[in-house]
Parts: sequence; C-alpha cells; structure tokens
Amino acid sequence: MARIVMKFGGTSMAGTERIRRVANIVRRQAAGRDGERNQVAVVVSAMAGETDRLVNFCREANALYDPAEYDVVVASGEQVTSGLLALTLQALGQPARSWLGWQLPVHTVENHAKALIDRIEGSGLIAAMEEGQIAVIPGFQGLSPEGRVTTMGRGGSDTSAVAVAAAIGADRCDIYTDVDGVYTTDPRIVARARKLKAVTYEEMLELASVGAKVLQTRSVGLAMRAGVRVQVLSSFVDDDATPADDHPGTMIVSEDEMNQLVERGEVERQLVTGIAHDKNEAKIILTRVPDRPGSVAHIFEPLAKASINVDMIIQNVGRDKGETDVTFTVPQADLARAQALLEDRREEIGYNRIITDSHIAKISVVGVGMKSHAGVAATMFAALAERGINIQAITTSEIKVSVMIDEDETELAVRVLHTAYGLDAPDESAG
Ligand code: ADP
Ligand code: ASP
Ligand code: MG
Repeated sequence: MARIVMKFGGTSMAGTERIRRVANIVRRQAAGRDGERNQVAVVVSAMAGETDRLVNFCREANALYDPAEYDVVVASGEQVTSGLLALTLQALGQPARSWLGWQLPVHTVENHAKALIDRIEGSGLIAAMEEGQIAVIPGFQGLSPEGRVTTMGRGGSDTSAVAVAAAIGADRCDIYTDVDGVYTTDPRIVARARKLKAVTYEEMLELASVGAKVLQTRSVGLAMRAGVRVQVLSSFVDDDATPADDHPGTMIVSEDEMNQLVERGEVERQLVTGIAHDKNEAKIILTRVPDRPGSVAHIFEPLAKASINVDMIIQNVGRDKGETDVTFTVPQADLARAQALLEDRREEIGYNRIITDSHIAKISVVGVGMKSHAGVAATMFAALAERGINIQAITTSEIKVSVMIDEDETELAVRVLHTAYGLDAPDESAG
C-alpha cells in the first residue's frame, strides 16, 4: 500500500465531464494493483479561468480591495470543485468527502492573498483514508490565526498539495496538469521543447521563480525542505484515465538522485536545463537620483515595507556628475502601488522623473551545469544580438542568467535561445 497525494489543476477540473475523468483516475489510483489498495488524498484547483473571473469581480467591486475579503471571494472556486469531485467519486461508488481549508485546518500566516502555510493538521485525513475514504481538499485556501479564510497566491494549489503530502507523510505527490511533464521550455511556445525525465529541486525552484508556471515556486521550495517526492504529469494522457504508475511524467529529484540517473545513462546532463519567460514584471526608472549614500535605501525601503518584491536593479552612470538613473522591476500587479509610494516620496528621494513601462519581459536560462562551466551568458548575449534583440538589463545567479527585453520579442527570444543551447528535439517532420 502507498499513500499518495494527487493534485489536479484548473484545466483538469474545468466542467463536470472533466471532473468525471479525474474521478476515474483517482478511483483507479486508489484501487491500486494486484488488489492492494492505496490511500489517496486529492487536492484540486478551481475550474480553469474561474479564479481570474473572481479576481475581476473584486476589482470591479472595489479597485483598492481589502485582501481579506478578496480571499473570501477567490477561495470559493476551489470549494466548488472539491465538492463536485467528492460527489462524482460517490456516484462511482467510491467513498469520498471534502475537507475545506478551515476544516482540516490548513493554518496559514502572513498576508491575506499571499498567505504562507504554517502547519496542516493531518490526523483527520489519515483516519478517513485508513477507512478507505478518499479525502478531497480544495487547494489554494487556508485559515488565518484570526480564524478567517486565506489564499496562498496564484498557482497556490501546488503548494497546498505538497504541504498536504508532507503533513500526512505521503510516499508521492503527483501534480496532474495539462502537459505531460516539465519541458526544456514552455511547450506552448516552442513546439520542439523536450520533456525532461527528471529535474533537480534546485533547478525547478529557479525555473519556477523566473516564470515557468508549471509549478508554483513555493511548492518546490517546500518539497525540497520536506523531502516530498513530486512528479509532474498529464491528466489527459489517454481516454482510459490511467493513473501515474503507468505513464510517468517528470520527477523532481535531489542532486544525488540526478547524478545516479546520469551515471546509469538514463538522463543526459545538459549545460542548460531550461528556459523560462515572465511577462508579469514592469520596469520603473527614476531619473537623476542624487548619487550619494542612502539614496537607494530611500527608494527600496518603502517598497519592501509594502511587501513589493523588487527583482532586477540597475543603477546607470549619471548623465551629470552627482546624479544617476535607477532602473528596477516590480510585479506588474504591484506597479500602481509602487508608483504611488515613490511619488509620495519624491522630495525625500530627490529624483527628477518617474518613468514606468509594463511592456517588458524577462527571459532566463537555468542549469546546474553553469556552476562549473563558463560561457553560458556569452552564448545568450550573442544569440540575442544576432537576431537584433536588445537587452535592457541583466541579472545572474549561480545557476541562472536573466535578461530584460521588449515584451514583443519574448517568443522569438525563447525560441532563439532554445536552439542556441542545443535543446531542440529532433524535427520529426523533417526528411
Ligand atoms: P494547472 O492549472 O494544472 O496548475 P498551469 O497552467 O498552472 O496548470 O501550469 C501548466 C502550464 O505551464 C502548461 O500548460 C505550460 O503552458 C506552462 N509551462 C511553462 N513552462 C513550462 C515548462 N518548462 N514545462 C511545462 N509546462 C510549462
Ligand atoms: N485557482 C488558483 C489560481 O488560479 C490556484 C491554483 O489553481 O493553483 O491561481
Ligand atoms: Mg498551476
């Protein structure tokens, strides 16, 4: 017997027909092989598009919405799908019940709308699963210390699933989505992207944090810390609703496991593992900031206090002596707030003009191979230059290089880099 957490994303839960398909996969996973049943907990997302719809309602109701009430609204999408899946399982003769965030409970801390999971009470789930009942848990939602509903940021159901897996000591956490694994880049942009058999936690963490939305970044960090075995796979693999045992997706593995896979010849080590893009950042330029100690602190302190994450930062050489331009990026969703905060402090910071631009994208190449090989960045710059793509800013880490470019060039840049690093799958249509 194994204890398994299965998570189904929005596309898999979009409508009663698809939920029936999910219920069949769940039922077969629970039935196990050779008569040995598995204990199964299922974490579900809202139907595809539902969370966007609910977020828009909040914006329409009140542009400066209270995050606590926003959570009340957006958490409802997952409540609907968890109940529907429990009903569908019951219709198939499979005992099942839903466990809402406040019922488990999923204790969260920090801000509404981007709550962090602190602790999940898993005893109720375990008792129910031991009796052969399927536990269905709405992802994305939790309970604040004040007893109010919280949500965990977009894509948060992945993190719910990993946290549930950690709380009940699951053998595996299978993340079912609309692609059959993690690819070298978004397969919707590059048709010749290659599916990876395995990717290390560290690389997946970096890929997710720079825009590969196949897993929420926090879910990968949590899996790494808690040692949860995560697999990404498709719920649309065939009409038979086959569970994971028969069609493995991409395993997220430790570096040791990766080294073993490479030694056994099951995985080929590449210099670059993947390429990701992110169109959700915006650029802010403050011109003619006084070039003296403390200036930069005056800019970034208020943003940090308002929980606005600043990503790329460049301080340009001043046009005149004693002045400099400071350019940085923030999430597009926080641009208006950031701009208002900086305008309020114009005197204090002493800049001349504030210029904003949402029409940018960040393209990143990631790979642990970079730790020991030089030249990855140079290849990137040369490949982009050859296609006339202008680089506006650059940042690097031990296993990543990111550049900021014009948003219109995103798809072209991703394709060019995918080819430049030799990641393209062989062209099956050719000769
Ligand atoms: P779900 O609703 O199941 O959570 P998401 O839309 O959040 O699904 O994530 C799956 C999507 O992630 C895919 O449809 C794909 O377009 C996108 N994606 C981005 N980068 C990658 C990648 N490197 N590998 C696989 N999918 C990726
Ligand atoms: N429904 C939420 C969202 O769309 C959470 C999730 O699907 O992971 O962001
Ligand atoms: Mg997702």
